[in-house]
Amino acid sequence: GTRPDTRLYERRESAVRSYARAMPRQFNRAEGVWMHDDQGGRYLDFLSGCSTLNYGHNHPILKQALLDYVAADGIAHGLDLHTDAKHDFLDTFERVILKPRGMDHRVMFTGPTGTNAVEAAIKLARKVTGRQMVIAFTNGFHGMTLGALACTGNATKRGGAGVPLSHVAHEPYDGYYGPDVDTADLLEQRLSDPSSGLDAPAAILVETVQGEGGLNAASPEWLRRIAGIARAHGALLIVDDIQAGCGRTGSFFSFEDMGFTPDIVTLAKSLSGMGLPFALTLLRPELDQWLPGEHNGTFRGNNHAFVTATAALRHFWQDDRFAGDVQRRGDLLASRLQRMADRYGFETRGRGMMRGINVGSGELASQVTAACFDAGLIIETSGAHDEVIKVLAPLVIDDAVLSHGLDMLEARLGEA
Ligand code: PLP
Repeated sequence: GTRPDTRLYERRESAVRSYARAMPRQFNRAEGVWMHDDQGGRYLDFLSGCSTLNYGHNHPILKQALLDYVAADGIAHGLDLHTDAKHDFLDTFERVILKPRGMDHRVMFTGPTGTNAVEAAIKLARKVTGRQMVIAFTNGFHGMTLGALACTGNATKRGGAGVPLSHVAHEPYDGYYGPDVDTADLLEQRLSDPSSGLDAPAAILVETVQGEGGLNAASPEWLRRIAGIARAHGALLIVDDIQAGCGRTGSFFSFEDMGFTPDIVTLAKSLSGMGLPFALTLLRPELDQWLPGEHNGTFRGNNHAFVTATAALRHFWQDDRFAGDVQRRGDLLASRLQRMADRYGFETRGRGMMRGINVGSGELASQVTAACFDAGLIIETSGAHDEVIKVLAPLVIDDAVLSHGLDMLEARLGEA
């Protein structure tokens, strides 16, 4: 075929694209942990569609499930109709995920993307509690629609709105003022002090590890404190597990075994396992108070995503083996990154297979990621100033391939 004309993108695609600017190639195929361009270039993927492809690209079992379903004229789109694919998904999600974790949450199909799940969560929390204020955290990222964007900490992103974003307080996340200041104490004090100006919140919205905000991992103690503060002040606890969930931290939910269960959980990204848009909002049954018509969306019934999500849950989460592999691999990643950080005087961040290395400036980080890309490694940055190089390798990556990618990163760090 003819070579694609890259000027087409300059001419016709909105300039808002960002990844494509940093990685100016024409990609045409991907399998497992590898992406390929039309010039025969091969790239190791340490971005995984920003944790959308935790099981790698085109995982053979998920791919076959989808091919079989389409070949049998399965229903592609069903609004919220009962379909075989939806039934199988709900049944599997209940059996493989919810019940073993002692969760009785209802499943709300909230749309294609993560921001839809967050929007539903905060909207419902406000409706149910009759309160308006949502507490979110510094450097949190929750999406780009107005409600979710108001909860997002990054001022540049919020500035894209063109209107004031209100009814959200951004409180300091764990570690925001360094290791000596307990920000849970600060929040408790502010909520207990009528002169603080902080209204009684409908919800506290939190990521356990801040994916876009620089891989800051909150401690289990801090998260437990936040859960307790929410309960004490009549606020709902919403954990946004869109990036940290689906196994990224070494368990299906990122808050497992921490001694609390959120009232509401949002999931998206790797839920379908094949990169198909699919988001859920999980809620305690007593919160299921919207009447038909009070909340919906056309693409809440992506049956292709139900099919691949079901296959992924059955294949990876039926027993503890996969979680064990991810935890072990996360330890390997941690020790390799720590060694690099020690060697070059940087700091590591994160938890499980969601980790990064803070190199102190966005300039240096992007210089390193650009050099990595030239060497065949797709890797991106995160953080308020994009100062954290973030490793989001597919969870299924072989240890040897993970090490190979980390060697590439280490070499580029050494040259920078
Ligand atoms: N919440 C978190 C924690 C995220 O990381 C993201 C996306 O990066 C979102 C919400 C928004 O999801 P989406 O981009 O699918 O709307």
